[in-house]
Amino acid sequence: MKKVSDFFGCKVFDDRVMKANLSAKVYQSLRKTIDEGAKLDIGVANAVAAAMKDWAVYHGATHYTHWFQPLTGVTAEKHDSFISPSPDGGVIMEFSGKELIKGEPDASSFPSGGLRATFEARGYTAWDPTSYAFIKGNTLCIPTAFCSYGGEALDKKTPLLRSMEALNKQAIRILHLFGNDDVKCVRTSVGPEQEYFLITKEMYEQRRDIRFTGRTLFGAKPPKGQEMDDHYFGVIKPRVAAYMEELNEELWKLGILAKTEHNEVAPAQHELAPIYTTTNIATDHNQLTMEIMQKVAAKHGLVCLLHEKPFAGVNGSGKHNNWSLATDGGVNLLSPGETPYENAQFLLFLCAVIKAVDDYQDLLRLSVATAGNDHRLGANEAPPAVISIFLGEELNAVLEAIETGTPYAGTEKTQMKLGVDVLPKFNRDTTDRNRTSPFAFTGNKFEFRMLGSSNSIACANIMLNSAVAESLKIYADRLEKAENFEDVLHEMIRKTIKDHKHIIFNGNGYDDTWIKEAVERRGLLNYRTTPDCMPHLLDEKNVRMLTSHKVFSEAELKSRCEIMLENYCKTVLIEANTMIDMAKTEIAPAVSAYVLELANTAVAKKAVDDSISRNYETELMKKLVRLEEQIAIKTDELEEAVMKLKGAEDVEAESYMIRDAVLGEMGELRVACDEAETMTAKKYWPFPTYGDLLFGVK
Ligand code: ADP
Ligand code: MG
Repeated sequence: MKKVSDFFGCKVFDDRVMKANLSAKVYQSLRKTIDEGAKLDIGVANAVAAAMKDWAVYHGATHYTHWFQPLTGVTAEKHDSFISPSPDGGVIMEFSGKELIKGEPDASSFPSGGLRATFEARGYTAWDPTSYAFIKGNTLCIPTAFCSYGGEALDKKTPLLRSMEALNKQAIRILHLFGNDDVKCVRTSVGPEQEYFLITKEMYEQRRDIRFTGRTLFGAKPPKGQEMDDHYFGVIKPRVAAYMEELNEELWKLGILAKTEHNEVAPAQHELAPIYTTTNIATDHNQLTMEIMQKVAAKHGLVCLLHEKPFAGVNGSGKHNNWSLATDGGVNLLSPGETPYENAQFLLFLCAVIKAVDDYQDLLRLSVATAGNDHRLGANEAPPAVISIFLGEELNAVLEAIETGTPYAGTEKTQMKLGVDVLPKFNRDTTDRNRTSPFAFTGNKFEFRMLGSSNSIACANIMLNSAVAESLKIYADRLEKAENFEDVLHEMIRKTIKDHKHIIFNGNGYDDTWIKEAVERRGLLNYRTTPDCMPHLLDEKNVRMLTSHKVFSEAELKSRCEIMLENYCKTVLIEANTMIDMAKTEIAPAVSAYVLELANTAVAKKAVDDSISRNYETELMKKLVRLEEQIAIKTDELEEAVMKLKGAEDVEAESYMIRDAVLGEMGELRVACDEAETMTAKKYWPFPTYGDLLFGVK
């Protein structure tokens, strides 16, 4: 049996490897760059590159790539080999500091939302030393940011790093005000829980919808779905267990702390949770995790579906973004401290998050908006598209006491005098659990549950970090000027609670009455679809906030809005075309063939005995013939709706046409086809059914 500690991180150029392979001087200089963002000089870069290359070649690598995350949602890489001709006619393996620091991929095929046209034709990649290089196959992968020549971000990592820096800056101001002068840096940490489905490769091959779009576009409800709740924490099937075992091993080799795995609520659905780490690294790791999940599945004759809603009527897949912020000394700022003074600091950070989530509901909502995730949020599934915060009973009582100025009568009676006012001391509450809230406080971190399973976690964390940075900035501006720190502090906390308590909701987020209350009584935003929310990225208040913290430039925001809407349109368009194709070339012919068999049987029966009054075949044929007609009509209508998109003025207009017309037509075509499925003999149906797919992995 291999010991995990022996191979954990064996494919990563991590701190241990750096220490062992770099001179003390180079190592320290690199550490300074990693920890404090100090500028890297080319001598150090050359030394690091040489050590990295030797290490990689020793581990079998022949190539290197600048690994980055363009706006398409996947990761991109362009492989170059280390070899370089030597004077004696042979080759040597070379890799310079320059090649480590900067690359020039052919950027033209990545979306830029018009940015490159406005600025520069080319883009370049820049090494991100804060995320370790690693080996995949025979390639050394160097995590990089991807920018245009004018410095405009064309990727997700660049704004993520900027947002972390913005939050760092403001959080440090606050901590210094509280007298924590030794804190040098504040970082956010994330542990993303990843949900996914596994189906067999054979069945996957037979379904064009899953192959082309990642989800089923047709499929009648199976006789057994998830109603028995017997999958969650049920016994993991041997084939799945073997998959998970190999997946863990591959992830561990890459230094990814895969920790827990279990079945999810829906049949064939599972979850993987890593141990949390710095947001930037967690984001890279999550991208890698999704990639490795799919690769390992292929080795086991399986396909891993990361789509948010692979099956209608069955729970979709999300990603829970567990988020906290901590100092370089390891103090979690979302953990209620031991003393009342620490409690006060905690409360201020807590308030900063509450204010941020309320002020920027729209940004958080749109940071998770995709065509795929629209099937979860805002549809009959949770979490809803309305953002609210769950705090738990105890914390809620504490906030209420502060707001009303009444003493807090919780379990812990000790109270503290902070100047003239009273801030209570309370304990961390870990027992309170709410699984239905989109944004839940879970003892020492927040869990943002709206993310889609296939999405990069970068976007959500960019918005979260930036919005919280903005709250902290407003607080710091006031506190730095305060004559009486404690008075102003208390008043600010009280005011935040008063102004933003409408976003706190501790009840059941899945309840229909909640949506009504949220929207009608509390005035919370309810953007159900991607076209509903995405244009708000360019609302003045949002542009102002994001540009003031230097997370995005205005041009970058415009380009991102355009790219996100373009992705939405393209995704649905591929789905619509796949439906049309399947309906015409697979479903209609199957129904037709079955009708012919029924007709033949009916004729044969009549020949035997023409006194039969209720002919099974004739009755069924009537229904199927009518459905065939429906399928033909609905296919035509969908085709027409798709054709009309060509006339759309711009991508925003097109997204509205998709939301208002195309998706509806797709739904109607599906209803007719799914009904036909329930009446057509199994041997005629051209692809595996929901029952086959969901219960196919033994
Ligand atoms: P829960 O039961 O609330 O889901 P777990 O302890 O199982 O909590 O953790 C779920 C995820 O949250 C894991 O990925 C874990 O690493 C992560 N996590 C735990 N503490 C923190 C933290 N302080 N910051 C960010 N993520 C965290
Ligand atoms: Mg969880």
